Amino acid sequence: MKNVTVLAGGVGGARFTRGLLAHLAQAHPSDAGEGSSVAVTVVVNTGDDMWLNGLRVCPDLDTVMYTLGGGIAEDQGWGRPNESRRTSSEIAAYGRGWDWFTLGDLDLATHIVRTELLHSGQTLSDATEFLARRWQPGARLLPMSDDPVETHVRLADAADEHAAGDLIHFEEWWVRYRASVPVTEFVQVGLDAASAAPGVLDAIAGADVVIVPPSNPVVSVGTILNVAGVRDAMRTTSARIVGISPIIGGSVVRGMADRCLEVIGVETSALAVGLHYGARSAGGLLDAWLVDETDAAAVAPLVAAGIRAEAAPLWMRDVPTSAAMAERALALAG
Ligand code: GDP
Ligand code: CA
Repeated sequence: MKNVTVLAGGVGGARFTRGLLAHLAQAHPSDAGEGSSVAVTVVVNTGDDMWLNGLRVCPDLDTVMYTLGGGIAEDQGWGRPNESRRTSSEIAAYGRGWDWFTLGDLDLATHIVRTELLHSGQTLSDATEFLARRWQPGARLLPMSDDPVETHVRLADAADEHAAGDLIHFEEWWVRYRASVPVTEFVQVGLDAASAAPGVLDAIAGADVVIVPPSNPVVSVGTILNVAGVRDAMRTTSARIVGISPIIGGSVVRGMADRCLEVIGVETSALAVGLHYGARSAGGLLDAWLVDETDAAAVAPLVAAGIRAEAAPLWMRDVPTSAAMAERALALAG
């Protein structure tokens, strides 16, 4: 095994990849003794990206970069540890920006540097590579696209200044409304004009194993899959494709991904999400799907649907438990 590619959102994708790297460093150490001889590429969702106070904010890219680089605020899963909100408070005092979306002062530096690079004509891929030089994440981080593709939701009813039927940015629905106001659909604004970023399709085509980590199936993994060429690359790659369920015992482990599944009419269960991705042999995505021990009853129906399945502990409590999970996923991929 030489190349592994992961399609990641934020917290779930980042914690999984951190475990994967720890496992690989142990099981396939490099000759130099640092890291692993297996090259890991992480294709990251950019559907949550937005402009805020003139800055380009990329929540999932930053969560992956900080998590792998040892700079994440572990308890919240985004941003940096021990940062203040002084700058955000000052911006709010001017009545600018979104008072429900605060950014820490250390995190703001990342957005300032990224925005400077983008304004000087660099692509998001270039800017990501530049930022990662500092963080040394131990994996190649690729945005899914260099073109802006922003996930919006269509409101079923009026909410504050918004009318029924309006499209609002996904982050506003998620953070301001805690996904609790009803929406009718997700719309990826900019999708038609977007192409996959350099290296993304090759990373899927040239991998030995492609991993769908326990990320949000709708607005993280689903968003990446909708980028032109990605689904085809997944269909035709000679890599084994293995996924890990983000649902344990009928509920999301963290966050509100069940609200997203509801909108697309998929039940919140390890079985339903596995079947939603579908068996590659039947035109779907997966060769294999790992479910939690408490969902062992899902294994038989998954196998019947043509998906190799197994039950294993899927709680990422720390790096060792995430590493053990990655090991099981790679073993299941075969
Ligand atoms: P986001 O962009 O920060 O929302 O992060 P992702 O899209 O990568 O993943 C969010 C999803 O990860 C959550 O909805 C959970 O279902 C899943 N998740 C988080 N922690 C765990 C865990 O410890 N185990 C499993 N199996 N899934 C998890
Ligand atoms: Ca996200």
